[in-house]
Amino acid sequence: MEVSKPILEVRELKTYFPIRRGVMAKTVGYVKAVDGVSFTIPEGKILGLVGESGCGKTTVARSIIGLAKPRSGEIRFLGENLLELNPRNFKPLRRKLQMIFQDPVSSLNPRMNVLDIVTEGLVEYGMVWESPLVHAVQLLKEVGLEKDAVYRYPHEFSGGQRQRISIARAISLKPDFIICDEPVSALDVSVQAQIINLLMDLRDRYGLSYLFISHDLSVVNHIADRIAVMYLGVIVEHGPGREVILNPMHPYTQALVRAIPIPGIEKKEKNSLKGEIPSPSNPPSGCRFHTRCPEVMTVCRTENPRHLISGERHVWCHLY
Ligand code: SF4
Repeated sequence: MEVSKPILEVRELKTYFPIRRGVMAKTVGYVKAVDGVSFTIPEGKILGLVGESGCGKTTVARSIIGLAKPRSGEIRFLGENLLELNPRNFKPLRRKLQMIFQDPVSSLNPRMNVLDIVTEGLVEYGMVWESPLVHAVQLLKEVGLEKDAVYRYPHEFSGGQRQRISIARAISLKPDFIICDEPVSALDVSVQAQIINLLMDLRDRYGLSYLFISHDLSVVNHIADRIAVMYLGVIVEHGPGREVILNPMHPYTQALVRAIPIPGIEKKEKNSLKGEIPSPSNPPSGCRFHTRCPEVMTVCRTENPRHLISGERHVWCHLY
């Protein structure tokens, strides 16, 4: 049983984006990107948030970090509800809550050298105890880069090296929690493994906790203690990582597991998931997955799925 206290608790989070039409930009509907998501991450643990592109994973991340404005819910970080804080009170907590983005090319300023990139936050928070150069060299060492990288610019590095620079920037402020939004999906498989190992090492060294977002279950399988599977703005299954992968219960999770080769698990068949993910502005009634589910029943089209809790497993499906 997990005994560590929660570092992040998300409760019934809803983040909608208005759809505006006409010369008066009248709101005619909402894209319900996140529509009632809840999860808890204990200190020192890693939650993998998985789902297809467009399921709302990144909006969850942006809502936590303050880049998207939730409509309702609670985001409790170190005991404080971030949605109730004004910018002044949010800033000290924001230091402890960092994010690594999918694309280091666009998230690193091409006009700043590595020294400025990795020490920018330290300067902003008044945490430069020695010369910025000393801090930068130490940070680069932490992420496996040579000290002569400090005066170079992002375009002079490979994709993996750029992601190491992003990680150095993220750990510069000594955070407690890092959101990793598809941090390896733009990288070659061999480089992916190196970055995953680096993130694991940093977690062990500093007791960090992560929300690790990916569309790739095989990547999440390597790093996550627990896995939450998201579909069209809601979580459909949640539980200990290996259990979810070895014994997926929700038909959507089963399709994801079948589609992705996972070491140690025989790949039984090709992707059985048919069709496109429906629009989050007009999600299907009943179970949101019913338009693509191979197990669909009549009840699934009209009634919200039942919530089964079995030990640490949570599944939302009429099959159970
Ligand atoms: Fe499939 Fe019905 Fe379960 Fe939804 S509730 S996943 S449609 S069986």
